[in-house]
Amino acid sequence: MTVTRPTTRSASAETGVLIDGEWQRTRATFPVRDKFTGEVLAELAQAAPEQVAEAVTVASRASRVPLPPADRERILRRAAELVADRAVDLRETYVAETGFTPADADGEIARTAELFRLCSGEAVRVAGEQVPVEATPGSEHRLAFTIRVPVGVVGAIAPFNAPLSTVVHKVGPAIAAGNAVVLKPAEQTPLSALAVARILLDAGLPAGLLQVVCGPGETTGDALVRDSRIRFFTFTGSTAVGRRIKAASGLARLHLELGSNSASIVAADADLDLVARLVRRAGFRKAGQVCTSVQRLLVDRRVADELAERLSRAVAELRAGDPRDPATDVGPLIDAAEARRAGDWVAEAGGAVVGGAVDGAVLRPALVVDPAPGSRLLEHEAFAPVVALVPVDGPDEAARIVDEGPYGLQTGVFTRDLDRAFHLARTLRVGGVIVNDTSSYHADLMPYGGVKDSGLGVEGPRYAVQDMTDPKIIVLNLR
Ligand code: NAD
Repeated sequence: MTVTRPTTRSASAETGVLIDGEWQRTRATFPVRDKFTGEVLAELAQAAPEQVAEAVTVASRASRVPLPPADRERILRRAAELVADRAVDLRETYVAETGFTPADADGEIARTAELFRLCSGEAVRVAGEQVPVEATPGSEHRLAFTIRVPVGVVGAIAPFNAPLSTVVHKVGPAIAAGNAVVLKPAEQTPLSALAVARILLDAGLPAGLLQVVCGPGETTGDALVRDSRIRFFTFTGSTAVGRRIKAASGLARLHLELGSNSASIVAADADLDLVARLVRRAGFRKAGQVCTSVQRLLVDRRVADELAERLSRAVAELRAGDPRDPATDVGPLIDAAEARRAGDWVAEAGGAVVGGAVDGAVLRPALVVDPAPGSRLLEHEAFAPVVALVPVDGPDEAARIVDEGPYGLQTGVFTRDLDRAFHLARTLRVGGVIVNDTSSYHADLMPYGGVKDSGLGVEGPRYAVQDMTDPKIIVLNLR
């Protein structure tokens, strides 16, 4: 294939476009800003469709000779060590480009190292199985087994809100499975992804097994999803973009990890101290920009007033502002437009409100008690530091509300009644039910993914590695 190269080559620091082990410069660039101060942190190369095609060409070539499993294991283990070694620099970049607090950064950096370790372990467990074809009449003298072979090239597209862990949830299993990867980070927070790419190169990943193409979704991302040489796409982001990617990606298999307006259900017998303590964090960390963030708290009306009172006090105490100020609990949203949009949703929802004032990109953490039915705050994903407390007639009504909505990621259930907990766990139409914790609990070795409009397929290194390989049948005629 002929490739026009709109670039000059540079072996210098991370430019935004990594192809065949070299950082390239481009004519078009885009700025990455500090989300609190607005200062330009970097001006990155923006991959044009021609460079995306070149990246896929290089990845296709590199994928023809898969890396031996022991090498994958060693490289991914070394990457975990490098994440820990570089934690201070990673934290600084992360806080600046996301606007999240250092505590949020430290949590995600620790998870990122752990994820690399989990992927490293999976790299040496990729295996097929014997298929007893000799049990089939006429096949008595055949021996058959499967081996799992890498799909080839994996296309990975990441969202802005977890720029280390979502990247490693995609790139780590793809490498562990023996594939080459082309990664498109979110344009708002690409610097953490570039640091991950640098870590993998420094850990010894051969050039060609990881390309990075930064740029906007509509151009750079679209060129990637339309490239039919990519056999597997792994996408985390909004439901609207997930639909577009599914429609444009032809016959490629895919994982879609999408949005949610996650609910947690609180029964009358729940431990309200526990609920208040956990929701204070799970509704507001990363300024609520988490797919499983507690957006709707569906509370038995017999205890709704008491919980509202406790949560009102807790939310009023949260300090919002400069994420670098040690007193700050909640930093800015990704931009001022998002803060205005979420502030409007709070204002239109009615009900009793704590917080909700907007100052630039900062939205004062908000609790809305008994919002108007049908309001956007209840129906759509808020992705903001806002919790809606909805009094309901009991867990059955709460379950109906969850199931009638379009999303199905995770749901929290707070109750002391084991039968009720198990009944809800078995019947709710969501990807995961967390008992006596919120929708936001996540350990990286779990299978993790949504149903309905929240996604397709599950992540988690063990499950993703399996999906990023194909079973190949081998049959011996023993004669
Ligand atoms: P987004 O959908 O706007 O963007 C995600 C990525 O897709 C970005 O890299 C973007 O550039 C790219 N993109 C946009 N249009 C594209 C196109 N036409 N073709 C190809 N790529 C395109 O999402 P966001 O605002 O970055 O992230 C927030 C969303 O992600 C929320 O909805 C949140 O719930 C979801 N999310 C889900 C999970 C999960 O595990 N289910 C985890 C984190 C975030």
